[in-house]
Order: sequence, then C-alpha cells, then structure tokens
Amino acid sequence: MKWEVVIGLETHAQLATRSKIFSGAATAFGAAPNTQACPVDLALPGVLPVMNRAAVDCAIRLGLAIGADIAPRSVFARKNYFYPDLPKGYQISQYEIPVVMGGSLAIAWDEGGEQHEKTVHLTRAHLEEDAGKSLHEDFHGMTGIDLNRAGTPLLEIVTEPDMRSAKEAVAYAKALHGLVVWLGICDGNMQEGSFRCDANVSVRPFGEEKLGTRSEIKNLNSFRFLERAIDYEVRRQIELIEDGGKVVQETRLYDPDRDETRSMRSKEDAHDYRYFPDPDLPPLVIAPEWVEAVRGSLPPLPATLRMRFVDEYGLSGYDATTLTASRDVADYFDKVVGTMAGIAPAASQDAARSQAKAAANWVMGDLAAALNRDGIDVDASPVGAEQLALLVCRIQDGTISGKIAREVFQAMWSERAAGDDAADRIIESRGLKQISDTGAIEAIVDTVLAANPKSVEEFRAGKDKAFNALVGQVMKATKGKANPQQVNDLLRRKLAG
Ligand code: ADP
Ligand code: MG
Repeated sequence: MKWEVVIGLETHAQLATRSKIFSGAATAFGAAPNTQACPVDLALPGVLPVMNRAAVDCAIRLGLAIGADIAPRSVFARKNYFYPDLPKGYQISQYEIPVVMGGSLAIAWDEGGEQHEKTVHLTRAHLEEDAGKSLHEDFHGMTGIDLNRAGTPLLEIVTEPDMRSAKEAVAYAKALHGLVVWLGICDGNMQEGSFRCDANVSVRPFGEEKLGTRSEIKNLNSFRFLERAIDYEVRRQIELIEDGGKVVQETRLYDPDRDETRSMRSKEDAHDYRYFPDPDLPPLVIAPEWVEAVRGSLPPLPATLRMRFVDEYGLSGYDATTLTASRDVADYFDKVVGTMAGIAPAASQDAARSQAKAAANWVMGDLAAALNRDGIDVDASPVGAEQLALLVCRIQDGTISGKIAREVFQAMWSERAAGDDAADRIIESRGLKQISDTGAIEAIVDTVLAANPKSVEEFRAGKDKAFNALVGQVMKATKGKANPQQVNDLLRRKLAG
C-alpha cells in the first residue's frame, strides 16, 4: 500500500524583547543561573504578572506579515501541569482565543530533482511564557533548576496539517525562520533554542480523507534534526501499521546520536491541562490604532517583494519564494538587478526580465553554493552584489561565456577582489575575453573539422552526440573562450554544406 505522510508543525519562536513577558527581569542568554529571575518568575506568593507591550508588538508584526487576523480581544489562560522547572504549577499561555488567527506562508523546495512551491496555512499563533530549565549534568551529582528562562516570551506558531514530506516541513520551518528574523521579532538562534519546532506526524493510505493517528516529536532545534526525525518517524509508523500494529498518540523525543525517535509520554489531551482564563491578567485588547501603528513600522515584507519579483521581474514562484526566504538574500538579489540595470539599461521588458532571471540563477546557484560551502552569510559575501552584477552583465553582453564566468567568479571569491569592476579586471588580466571574431572562430572550426573526420561522418549518420563532441573540440582549442553560440551556428552551417 502507498502511504501519504501528513505533517503539522508547532514552532516556538523566542521573542527578542529585552525583558520577560510578565516581569521586568532581563532575557539575555547565557547569564549565571537564577540571576535573571525576579519574584514573578520565581512564583513567590502575592506577585502579579504584567503584560509586556513589546511582546504583543511582535505578535502583531507576525500576524500582519502572514496576512492573519489580529484578535481585537484575546485571553490568557493557565495551562496546569507539574514540573520542577515550573514553580507556579501552571504556564501562562493562550488557549481559546489566541492573538493571531489564520494566515499563510509561501514555501519552495527541491525534492526528487524537481522544484516545488506551495502555500502553507497557519492555524494560529499565541503568546506564552517559557518554563525554566533543569540542569542534570555537572551539578554535584544532583539536578539543579535554573529559572532564568522562566517567563521568557514565546510566540507559538501552529500550522494546519498541510505538509506532505520531511523536505516540505523543513522548507516551511526555513521560511518561517527567515520571516521572524526578517521582522526582527526573534534572533533565530537555533543552538540557543530561540527557534524550535514540534513536528506532528501521521500517515494514511493515499485517497483516505480521515487523518491517521499522529505522534508529536518535541523540541527539534535544527533543520537537519527536523528532517531526520520526521523521516525516521514516517518509517516507524508505516512499518508498525504494515506489521499489523497501531500508532498510538504520544509525545516522542528525537535522539540525534542514534538517529531515532523514542516515546516520552502518552499524549495529554487538552482537558488534562484544566485550562482556564488567568484571573490575574485582564483580556488583551488590541485597538485598531495599535495594529496600524505596527503596520507603519514594518519593513518591506517578503510576501510583497515576492509578488514584485514575479510581476516586475517575471520570476517563477519558486525563484521568487527562494529569493525572499531571507531579507539579506532578497536585498542582495535586488541590488544585483538594480546594478545591472544601471550598467546595461534594458531596451525592453523582455530584456529586463532576462537580466533578472540571470541574476536569480547566479544568486541561487553559484553564489548560494559558495556561501554554503564556506559557511558565510550573504551579507558578508566576498563577492558583493555590485561585483556580481558586472559579472552577469559580461555574460549577457557576450564578453565571456557562462563557463568562463564561473572561473571569474571563483577568482573574485578566493582573491577577495575589491572594487565594483573586479570582474572586468580579472577578465582583462587573465585574457578571458570571449572570441567573437567570426573569422578567427571559423579558422578553428575548419581545423577541428579536418582533424575529426570520424565525428563528421557520425554526425551525418544522425548521431547528435557527435555534434557535441565537435563543439567540445572547438571550445578546447580556444580554451573555452569561443562564443558558444557562434561555434554552434558555424558548425551547423559547415556540416550542412
Ligand atoms: P496540540 O498538539 O497542542 O494538542 P493540535 O491538536 O491543535 O494541538 O495540533 C497541533 C498540530 O498538530 C497542528 O500543527 C496540527 O496541524 C497538527 N496535527 C493535528 N492532527 C494531525 C494529524 N493527524 N497528523 C499530522 N498532524 C496533525
Ligand atoms: Mg502540540
């Protein structure tokens, strides 16, 4: 039987506020244990929580960026459970009425050698506080409790069960990560736990409408772990069902050392938590003016840029989504296109679009690969946007071929070449200019044809491969510098004659 995978993600983004969600204690990472926990975080008797306005601003920012509804009145609830790192005996969260409802996010990913894109629907996003931390290691053989993290503001962002593979789930997590960093509401530091995902995974036979029983894998704090945990879980569930077993609803943990998930506890139902509105906190009322003030402070949004890239530059949805996955990448790409338009003003809309497409290919291709290989962020790229722009212009105006451009790019990269004209200087000093002189190419083509009678014969017998071999010979003879289009045209003409 063929199984369909169904995934919904719950993501906790730690909000980049200076103080906690209901107290004035600091939120800075890495402080000595219990030095950033005030009486409210310690749950001393008689203390009262006070909502941090900055955390609400963050929630509104996200809501606006995903096209969600901002609840004019939402409610904080107590989620009751016992844990040593939760001194109050409950977590303040939002339950029935969250601050953000609905919304969607565009995602793009590669899978099975194909480019995919789709829209993931969001269910809700709600504000809540984080718990403290139990320290089991290096603590005199005992467990210590650090309450610095208690009361840290979190936005929990929940999707509909819209994703159908681990790759897709990772694409969503990356898009959301890029967005919260873009909006400045989360530092995105996954090692420090500022952005972590719970993956809800189930399988069902293709064609079945009813969802299968899910398990929930908690606290995945890297994209790689997210992908591997889901892949493992999918295999486990399918094997279980095919062996006649049944998936039970439970919470599981991913162990990266063994690359497997393990049962942690059977899943609580909502009613186990005895949610009720927190009597210490009034409802959170957000007036329209507040929403508008936040809207006015937003940077250009990825969704807006994405549409502009499609409408104005004629990019595909996949390209536009990939290029707007992070603000730095989007800015870089936009600067490449803008600079190209300055160097070589396009005569028509088609020409402008071909420039944009070429820029997109370079940013998503060679540049992304080099950044990835050397572990560098795009804003620290050794090849700047203006430099790349000139390089792409030199391919488009026929000065160099795409293949030679790669060589120039690598030289610019490894030499950390300075100056916007770096590409021109490297092309000049290394003598990489394309040979576009028809006479010169023709002479080489004639020599190659004379020296390769077998290939000529094969071509005439209908073997296309032989043609490519002849092109290759000409390119070799010119050290890759012949204009490939001219080589093609000349060869075809001569072979036909
Ligand atoms: P909770 O986990 O807190 O009980 P929900 O029941 O609302 O909350 O579901 C949380 C997440 O699980 C959502 O992202 C939802 O899309 C996803 N989900 C719910 N049912 C399934 C299912 N059968 N398979 C996969 N994901 C599911
Ligand atoms: Mg859950």
